[in-house]
Amino acid sequence: MSTYTYLAQPYRRELDSIIKAVRPDGLVLEDTVFHPEGGGQPGDRGWINGQPVSDTRMTDVGPVHIMADVSGFSVGDAVSMSIDWQWRHHFMKAHTAEHMIAGCLYSLAGIGVLSIHLGEDVLTIETDQASIPLEVLHRVEDAVNKAIHEDHVVRAYELSHEDALALGLRRPPKVDGLTRIVEVEGVDRIACGGVHVASTAEVGEVGFLSSEKIRSHVRTIWLYGEAATRRRHEERQLASDIGALLSAPFEGVYGAVECLVEESKAQKAALRAKDELIAQLALSLQGPVFESAVPVDAYVKLAGSRFFTVHVEEGRLRWLLSGSEDDFKRLKDLYGHFGMKGGGRTPLWQGSANCDADALLGAVRVLWEEVE
Ligand SMILES: [Zn+2]
Repeated sequence: MSTYTYLAQPYRRELDSIIKAVRPDGLVLEDTVFHPEGGGQPGDRGWINGQPVSDTRMTDVGPVHIMADVSGFSVGDAVSMSIDWQWRHHFMKAHTAEHMIAGCLYSLAGIGVLSIHLGEDVLTIETDQASIPLEVLHRVEDAVNKAIHEDHVVRAYELSHEDALALGLRRPPKVDGLTRIVEVEGVDRIACGGVHVASTAEVGEVGFLSSEKIRSHVRTIWLYGEAATRRRHEERQLASDIGALLSAPFEGVYGAVECLVEESKAQKAALRAKDELIAQLALSLQGPVFESAVPVDAYVKLAGSRFFTVHVEEGRLRWLLSGSEDDFKRLKDLYGHFGMKGGGRTPLWQGSANCDADALLGAVRVLWEEVE
C-alpha cells in the first residue's frame, strides 16, 4: 500500500477493506481510514464491523487497529470500518494549529522546534531557545489567528527528496525517498506524515497559554479551537470580577491588587511584632516550661535562654525548645511516646507532636526537675 486512504482522503470517515493479519492486539487491514499514532498526534478510535477500536498504531506490517477481542475475525474477511470523527477532526485541527504556530515561530523570530505534543486541550511545542520574550509569543499568536481568519488552504503533496531539500524547509526532511510536504499556504511548509484540516478557518482560534523551561529549552503551551475561545472569555470575566471586587476599572486592577498585597504584608509584620512582644512577656512571667498563647515561631528571636513551650495551631500541637544540645537529647527520648517530630540545631529546635499539650508539658517538667 503506497498511500493509505487516511492520508489520501483525510476527511473520509468510512471504508470497506480486507483483513491482512489478525494479531493478539488487533487487526491489520489492506487499507484504512484510521490514522495511526505518530508525529505527536494520537491514533484514531472507531469501529470495525461494529466492534470498538481503542487506538491505532503503526507497525512494520501497517497500522494495527487495537481491539479488545479479535476472536470473530479471520484473514481475508471483508470488513467495514468507521472512525470516531469528533476525536479525529479535533486532532486534525490541533495538528494544523501546531504547523501554523511552528511556522510563525520560525518565520517571525527564527525559532526552531525540537518536539511537539498534541493534547486534548493544549498543544505543546518545545523550542530550541533558552528564553523567548513574551512579546514574540504574542506576535506569533496574532499572526496565526490572522491566518486562521484569512482562511488559508492546507494541502499535502509528494516531492522527490532533492526537490523537498530545495524548498529550504524550517526542518530538513527525515525520509530519503518521496517526501510528503504539508503546506499551509503562505504560512508554513514542512515534511509531515500526519492528517490536517483543509482550510485554516476550521482551527477556529489559537491562544498562547504559558511557557516553561525543560532540558534548558523553552516549551510553549498553546490552546486551540474551542478551548482557546473559552479561555479568552474566562480571562476577561476574571479581570472583570476582580475589578468589581476591588471597585477598580480594568486599567487599575493590577495597582489595586498590588496595594492589597502590600497591605497584607504590613499587617502580617505588625501581627508578628505583636506576637513577639507577647512571647517576650510570657517568657519573663512564666516558664521555663509553659503553654504559649501565640505561635511558637514568635520565640525564635529569644533563643538562648532555656525554655520549652507548646502552642496548638489548627488542631496541631507545635513545640519549641531553646536550650543546650543535652536538653534536646533528653527531649528526643519523649519522641516515641508523644508522637513527636522535628529538629533544629543548638540552641533552637522546633517540631510537632501528636498528643495533649498538658501531657507533654508535664513530661518535660518532670524531665527538667529530675536533672536539676
Ligand atoms: Zn503535520
